[in-house]
Amino acid sequence: MQNLALPLPPALGPAAHGLRPDVDWSAVARDLQGLHLVTDEPARRRLSRDFHWYSPILAGQLRDCVADLVVKPSTEDDLLRVAAVAARHRAPLTVRGAGTGNYGQCVPLAGGLVVDTTEMMRVLDLQPGRMRVQGGARLHDMEMAARETRQMLRMWPSTWRVATIAGFIAGGFGGVGSTAHGVLRDRGNLIACRVVTVDDEPRVITLQGDEIQKVHHAYGTNGLIAEVELALSPAIDWVHAVVLFPHYRQVLDAAIAAGRPGLHSFLLSAVDRRFAPYYGPLRDHFPGDRHALFAMVAPGSLADFRGVVAAHGGEVALAMDEAALEGAALPPAHECAYNHTTLQVLRADRSWTYLQVAYPQPFDPAIVERQMARWGDEVWQHQEFARMHGESATFAILLVKWRGAERQYALMREIEADGCTVFDPHVVTIEDGGMKAIDDSQIAFKRLADPMGLMNPGKTRGWHPGMARAAR
Ligand SMILES: Cc1cc2nc3c(=O)[nH]c(=O)nc-3n(C[C@H](O)[C@H](O)[C@H](O)COP(=O)(O)OP(=O)(O)OC[C@H]3O[C@@H](n4cnc5c(N)ncnc54)[C@H](O)[C@@H]3O)c2cc1C
Repeated sequence: MQNLALPLPPALGPAAHGLRPDVDWSAVARDLQGLHLVTDEPARRRLSRDFHWYSPILAGQLRDCVADLVVKPSTEDDLLRVAAVAARHRAPLTVRGAGTGNYGQCVPLAGGLVVDTTEMMRVLDLQPGRMRVQGGARLHDMEMAARETRQMLRMWPSTWRVATIAGFIAGGFGGVGSTAHGVLRDRGNLIACRVVTVDDEPRVITLQGDEIQKVHHAYGTNGLIAEVELALSPAIDWVHAVVLFPHYRQVLDAAIAAGRPGLHSFLLSAVDRRFAPYYGPLRDHFPGDRHALFAMVAPGSLADFRGVVAAHGGEVALAMDEAALEGAALPPAHECAYNHTTLQVLRADRSWTYLQVAYPQPFDPAIVERQMARWGDEVWQHQEFARMHGESATFAILLVKWRGAERQYALMREIEADGCTVFDPHVVTIEDGGMKAIDDSQIAFKRLADPMGLMNPGKTRGWHPGMARAAR
């Protein structure tokens, strides 16, 4: 447990990171001629943003961070060329996918070159049990390609329509599918990736299996992920369900019961009834008089699931496969879960923010009941049920009324005092947010993949300017 106190604002600008403040950007642009470059200011500003605006603290701190130049490579050879040019000019380089990360993960704190990978989107190979794609491939497109071979992805973030696979690996954790397949880190989900180094003579390093941890959740600080190979599972036509319960405790108990290994689910998400007015298209199925469990269940487990629901006092308000949902113009259950829950409200009302929590296991719903009673309307509840390293895992993405930074950190300390872990969403470094400690293997890999310390400066506490290799 750490004692969460108000953090210092991040250091901004190249000099703050020991980098040259005098890069000649017209010379960089000349050296990148022939590649897709973006130079106009509004587009550079847009491509320097992500979803850090969920945090009023980060929204203020990162407002003026803008790339000097954006490049959109299409191939691994393009990436090698971009890496060489960045190294030659000692230019800060921040790689981005769709920019759906939440913590300013791809916001260039030192300005510099932003490498937008969304044109590296091709499926390269598709075999039984595996798929190989370029790093900028969108999860949704990958899932559609997999389905053509009666297979499916093992997991995706709720931002799957736009999020890229490399962004998910470098910035994400797990998500939809994690009740069945654990998190990205769990063995067997990721097979290999090719990483381009940023150096005078860039090269490609292939990471296999557990070696991928070196770049997983490293915020693009240690190499450009050019290609990813990942595992697929046989396709399942999931039943998307909304189940209503009079009491929140019943939702949590039902989710725990439905999370047992014999019941095949892909999503179990408990959502406080106070979110209901923001779930527009679902108003007939989530009317706000009861709390909801959003679930995706295999057809073969549906009877079992209905039994669990009935045993906990729930009523199935909706149960449809994806085609039926589309026909009825209703969203899939997985776009009502994870941080989409927060998004439904923030789209309409920016007076809220959020906190991320992991509960001790075995999960005790009484903690949530006590917190609900203590916080009243200041905090709305939302829990995700998953598996991690073969065990049950329970997380919350709580919607929190914004009452200033002091109050946010006081709440975080209360949550920690209740024995939970807080993943602070108001900070930009890997360690202050989710990971807590510096991952030495990621820093060792950074010495290989980014020896000059040009990549996404300011995002890891494990690197300081003195560690950069001197210019040759
Ligand atoms: C509404 C909402 C819901 C979300 N739900 C989930 C969820 O369910 N699970 C989850 O884990 N996350 C979730 N997220 C966070 C985010 O959407 C995911 O992590 C997503 O996969 C990020 O992909 P992206 O392409 O947008 O990455 P970006 O935001 O563009 O980048 C994320 C990080 O990856 C790095 N990066 C990107 N491309 C590369 C590359 N080629 N090589 C090296 N590094 C790279 C960037 O530098 C950055 O640090 C959610 C966010 C929002 C706003």
